[in-house]
Amino acid sequence: MSSAYLQCIEESCGRRQDANEDPHACAFCGGLLDVKYDFDPINPKQLRQTWRQRRLSDDPIDRSGVWRFRELVPFVDPGAKIVTLSEGFTPLVEAPRAGSWAGAVQLTIKHQGANLTGSFKDLGMTACITRALSRGVCWVACASTGNTSSSMAAYATRAGMKALLFVPFNQISAAKLAQALDFGALVVEVGDNFDAAFRLLLQVAPELGLYLVNSINPFRIEGQKTIVVEMLEQRGWLSPDYIVVPGGNLGNSSAIGKGLRELKDLGFIEKIPRLVIVQAAGASPFYETLRTGATDLLAVDAPHTEASAIRIGHPANWKKARRALDWVGGFCESVTDEEIAQAKCVLSQDGIACEPASAATLAGVYKLVQAGKIERNSDVVCVLTGHQLKDTDYIMRHRTAGKEGGQRIHVEAELNSLRRELQRALLEK
Ligand SMILES: *Cc1c(COP(=O)(O)O)cnc(C)c1O
Ligand SMILES: [Zn+2]
Repeated sequence: MSSAYLQCIEESCGRRQDANEDPHACAFCGGLLDVKYDFDPINPKQLRQTWRQRRLSDDPIDRSGVWRFRELVPFVDPGAKIVTLSEGFTPLVEAPRAGSWAGAVQLTIKHQGANLTGSFKDLGMTACITRALSRGVCWVACASTGNTSSSMAAYATRAGMKALLFVPFNQISAAKLAQALDFGALVVEVGDNFDAAFRLLLQVAPELGLYLVNSINPFRIEGQKTIVVEMLEQRGWLSPDYIVVPGGNLGNSSAIGKGLRELKDLGFIEKIPRLVIVQAAGASPFYETLRTGATDLLAVDAPHTEASAIRIGHPANWKKARRALDWVGGFCESVTDEEIAQAKCVLSQDGIACEPASAATLAGVYKLVQAGKIERNSDVVCVLTGHQLKDTDYIMRHRTAGKEGGQRIHVEAELNSLRRELQRALLEK
C-alpha cells in the first residue's frame, strides 16, 4: 500500500504535519502544504494498461477521470466512500483556425467545461470532498469567483454535507450563483472582490469548525493534477511542447506542475512539457512578481478584468506556482481584456467556446508567438477551464454590437416584412 502524508512546502521548514488534523496551513510556519506519498513500486507500462482497461468498466470509480488514476492519488483509506460525479473524461479537440491565428502552432484544446458542473473545479472537488467525508465533516466552505462554489455545492450535497460559500457582492456571474443555489448552498455575498471574501472566511472558519475547500486545501490539488495524466494518455503519452492555463488563485497551475513532475519521476513520460500561465492584465500579481524578480508577491489591491474567474489580486498558491515553473520550465504572461475577447472570438470560429478566463490561454499563446517565446509549429495544448454558458452576460455584451460573431434581428411577425428583412440579412452575412 502506498501511503500519504502532509508536508510544508517552505524550504526553511518542510515539516511533516499531523494528517488527522487535516490542516490547511503548516502548524509551524503557516506555509502551504503538499500531499506527498511513499509510492509502492510503480510499473508505468502495466499501470497504463490497467488505466486503459478501466475505461471499459461501468464502475463509476473506474470511469472518473480522477479515480481511474487512483494509484497516483493514494490518500483514500481502504473501504472509504468515494464521492464522484463522473468528473473528468473531458475531450481533447483540435483547433486548427485558432492555431493558425495564434501563429501557426499545432493547437489542441483540453476542454474542462465538459465536467458535470462545467469547470475543472470538479476534479479537485471529488478529491477534497472524499477526504472531508472520511473525516466526518458536516459543513464545507469556500470563497469563490464562482466555479469553486458551483462545484463545492454539487459535491457537498451529493455527500450529504452542507455548503457555505462566500462570494464577492455582485462580482460573480449569474449562472455560477444559480448553480450554487440550485444545489442548496448557503451563499454569503460579502466584500468587493474574491480576496476580501477569502480573508474573512479564513478568519471565521476555525471558530465555526468549517472545512475549507479552497485550493489551499492540498487535496484539491491532488484531484486537479490528474488532468495531465488524462491528457497525456489521450495523446499516447507524447508530451506537447507547452501546456497553457489561465492563472487566478494559481491552484490549477500548481496542480499541473505537480502532476507533470510526478509523471516524470515515476517514469510515465520522457519529456516534460513547459507550463505557461496566463493572467489578465488588471489582475496579474504573479506575472508582475516574476517580471520584476521580486522575492515577495506583488499583490494587487483592486483586481479588475471582465474575466471574473481570474479576478484575484492575492493568489494563495503563488509559491506553489513559482515552484511548478521551476520544476517544469515555462513562464507567465499577461493579456488585456481586449486580447481575451478577441481570442474567445477566434476559438468560437472553431466551434469551441468557453468562458472568458479560459480564452486568456489562447490570447497568451498569440502574444508569446509574436514575442518569439513560443516557437512557430509548436505543439500546444490550451486548457479551457470553464464552459461557454458560465458567463452568458459577457457574450451578450460583446456579441450584440454586431462587430463579430452572430447577428440578432427582430422581425415583425408578418410574411412580407420577414422576407424583406431576410433578404437583406442574408446578403449582408
Ligand atoms: C478557478 C478558475 C480559474 C483559475 O484557476 P486557479 O486555480 O484559481 O488559478 C480559471 N478559469 C476558470 C474558468 C476557473 O473557474
Ligand atoms: Zn512550515
